[in-house]
Amino acid sequence: MDIAIIGAGITGLTTAWRLHAAGHRVTIFETCDEPASQGSRHNGGQLRFFTLSPVADRRLSLFSLPDWINAYDSPIYWRPQRGDGQWRWLRAFLRASRKRPRQEALEALQELAAISFELTGQLHELPGVHSHHARTGRIVLYRHPKRFEAARRAAEHTYQLREHMQTLSNAECVEEVPLLADTIKHFVGGIYSPDDCVLDVPLLCRTLSAHLLTKAPEVRIMYGLKALSLDARNGRIVAVDTEEARFAIDAVVLACGVQTQPLLYRLGISLPLYPITGYQLSIAQVADAPPLRVALSDAEAHFHLSALEGKIHASGLFDIAAPREFPSAARVEHLRRRAAAFTGKHWPLDAPEVFMNVCAATPNGCPIIGRQPEFTNLWYNLGHGQLGLTLAAGAAELLACQMSDKPILCNEAPFAPPPMDGA
Ligand SMILES: Cc1cc2nc3c(=O)[nH]c(=O)nc-3n(C[C@H](O)[C@H](O)[C@H](O)COP(=O)(O)OP(=O)(O)OC[C@H]3O[C@@H](n4cnc5c(N)ncnc54)[C@H](O)[C@@H]3O)c2cc1C
Repeated sequence: MDIAIIGAGITGLTTAWRLHAAGHRVTIFETCDEPASQGSRHNGGQLRFFTLSPVADRRLSLFSLPDWINAYDSPIYWRPQRGDGQWRWLRAFLRASRKRPRQEALEALQELAAISFELTGQLHELPGVHSHHARTGRIVLYRHPKRFEAARRAAEHTYQLREHMQTLSNAECVEEVPLLADTIKHFVGGIYSPDDCVLDVPLLCRTLSAHLLTKAPEVRIMYGLKALSLDARNGRIVAVDTEEARFAIDAVVLACGVQTQPLLYRLGISLPLYPITGYQLSIAQVADAPPLRVALSDAEAHFHLSALEGKIHASGLFDIAAPREFPSAARVEHLRRRAAAFTGKHWPLDAPEVFMNVCAATPNGCPIIGRQPEFTNLWYNLGHGQLGLTLAAGAAELLACQMSDKPILCNEAPFAPPPMDGA
């Protein structure tokens, strides 16, 4: 099949890799002049294969909503917006935080992440592909005994997790990460996954793009070429219209992150996606400070800390608000204070590099992977939220298996695109 992929972020590029491996010809269209120019540019770079969790969880309810309105010092911030589907998305987000739907989403994500774990190793064996990929491990710290106990039980009783997780007391956390000595009193313990990784995502995208262009003759990548619309006839996409030319195709995969909706608008499709803003601060490592060898997360604060190639990266927060052009100074200050609580006197955070980034998220955290039911050849790999790097290889494999009629290795139902409204 001749397959068009829209978007050359981490999702589009890994999708091209898996589709090519399954024997397809692939053309990627990318608006920007190089890979990873948007959502995949600035992020925590953490692959949370065994310690992921959807943002919608049981602490959230209708009663939490007022706490988030313009709450600059809360992990979740909400700026109410009318007319862009925000309220509908928010209702679904709250529904997804109930016990049962959350558990179903979590199990589906864990299965997909386990596939990603296997394939991310293979990805780095491709000639020329590298990303400073390191298996640093990650400790997720808990503040409340009940939540810690629930996480401990899940780690011990979930088949896919058991061999990849350890429960740590506070003292053991400090032994692993001496930097925690001053902060650990705020926590009750941690769950440690030695197999979680960090990597440089833009570097991975650049080297994967170069690999595909030079070593995969059936893959073309058209940088600087925006897909303007999809031409649909009788329930089938027949061509992608770009700024320069029209391309006839057998199938199309949308992997275009937050800019998906304009392409679907004319087809009458509206997916449950909303742009979620996150922030990242980076500082250069200080030579005589205690090193941060293991990535850290504060489970309740949507906060992550990792070290990569001489820099410390603090990332997180979850803004449900139409994206702004510039980072919110108050949100950056909140993240800076969170990071400073960990890094203390060792890592001065007075003048960090500041980045803001937007990613498309679904209410329950499960990406949309599969075919739009009303079209024979319109496929998606979208909506990974704040787990796009972690899930990239697994999501690409799932889609490639679906498109090639190969056996599916996980439960695909939670990722299936919803039917069109009124269909
Ligand atoms: C602060 C922050 C920290 C994060 N940290 C982590 C982390 O530690 N671990 C993790 O797993 N995830 C993390 N994420 C999430 C992750 O960064 C994203 O999920 C992921 O990068 C999304 O990749 P993508 O390829 O789907 O989208 P993008 O990288 O946005 O790629 C979409 C591409 O499509 C192109 N495009 C759009 N429309 C068109 C069109 N019409 N024609 C042609 N091209 C088009 C765009 O130019 C863009 O290059 C983080 C996110 C944020 C905001």
